[in-house]
Amino acid sequence: MSLAFPYLIFSPRIWDAPFTIHQFMPRRPLSAEELATVTARSGSRCEYCQCPSDYSAQPFVCEHITPIAKGGQTDLSNICFACGGCNGHKYTKTEALDPVSKRVVPLYHPRIHQWSEHFSWSDDYLHVIGLTPMGRATVIALKLNRQAVMNIRSLLLLAGKHPPKTENE
Ligand SMILES: [Zn+2]
Repeated sequence: MSLAFPYLIFSPRIWDAPFTIHQFMPRRPLSAEELATVTARSGSRCEYCQCPSDYSAQPFVCEHITPIAKGGQTDLSNICFACGGCNGHKYTKTEALDPVSKRVVPLYHPRIHQWSEHFSWSDDYLHVIGLTPMGRATVIALKLNRQAVMNIRSLLLLAGKHPPKTENE
């Protein structure tokens, strides 16, 4: 495996591929103050599925909403607090198909959009419902109604900790 690094550097394929300079730029670690801001403004919940970090078995991440690979910066205006599941399903996506309009639309951007304008809860509070093309596309692309997340919602509902009292900013 020691050849992997020189191979990546010198392989002609890397120059043929449609890479951008952003993919080679190192990620800047967030400062402790920035991490505190990201956590506090999210209410310690995933800014997509709204799962509280205290009740998730998966680690939460500071997600680049516009991925570095697509030119996103490590800046608080491009960072959200996300559970590992939503982060993994989002990956480098920035847009997805709205199943109703059949149009490809931008994904929900937690720093620009209000959660309640694009999503609501089902009557039993277990499903996130997309209210807009952006909301519907995001529900599907990020799989916001994954079984494990719905199981957590069900238990939190019994404990009086779901739905969230206040939405993310
Ligand atoms: Zn999530």
